[in-house]
Amino acid sequence: MAEEASFRDGVASVPGLSGASESVAADQQPKKFPKGVVLGKDGKPCRSCTSFASWAAQTKRDVATGSRAVSTSTTAVTSGPPADCPPDVETLGRSTWTLLHSIAASYPELPSQGQKSDLLSFVGLFSKLYPCWVCAEDFQGYMARQKPQVNSRDEFSQWLCRAHNDVNRKLGKPEFDCSKWDERWRTGWKDGRCD
Ligand SMILES: Cc1cc2nc3c(=O)[nH]c(=O)nc-3n(C[C@H](O)[C@H](O)[C@H](O)COP(=O)(O)OP(=O)(O)OC[C@H]3O[C@@H](n4cnc5c(N)ncnc54)[C@H](O)[C@@H]3O)c2cc1C
Repeated sequence: MAEEASFRDGVASVPGLSGASESVAADQQPKKFPKGVVLGKDGKPCRSCTSFASWAAQTKRDVATGSRAVSTSTTAVTSGPPADCPPDVETLGRSTWTLLHSIAASYPELPSQGQKSDLLSFVGLFSKLYPCWVCAEDFQGYMARQKPQVNSRDEFSQWLCRAHNDVNRKLGKPEFDCSKWDERWRTGWKDGRCD
């Protein structure tokens, strides 16, 4: 039997997803979802806010075989969704960081005013449109505390690296050494393994 958490329409409790808030409407009956399932603002489970393990438990699907499962444990599953399925929070996050860091890697060393303005607009819109709404709200919070720095590639890449580390810390992941950002995302590692 899956471990369950109670949620109510329009409100998400987000074990394992930091930064989300919990509140309840007194006149509504709780709905049952497995632990870790995050609700969207429409009150329905939000796939791109939830790990595949929790999503699969919610749909009672055995992740390993793709068949309907006997067990709905959220702890036994570690892999993400199949490649041709909608992304879970981790797959979406990984792909998004790849895009964001790659944008930083191709940003000019000496951008024009127009390029600075475009990047600021992009980051602002991105933070509003990101499909995992709890992630998006936390990212907006980070941007309010630490204004995006877009005066050069180096400035933006270091800002982005710190922003990513802020999420890493929240999730209990190791912090990335930002002095290695250029090798990781632009030039490839000095040992030549990317060439
Ligand atoms: C804006 C945003 C907000 C997010 N918020 C949440 C959230 O609130 N809750 C949640 O559960 N998930 C969130 N995610 C997803 C989460 O950050 C991870 O993408 C996901 O957990 C998968 O992690 P991962 O270990 O595969 O590596 P990722 O964190 O996706 O990183 C991918 C690769 O980037 C490199 N890297 C790691 N840190 C840095 C860094 N600081 N600078 C440069 N490169 C680095 C590493 O090589 C790593 O393998 C968010 C994603 C984004 C884009």
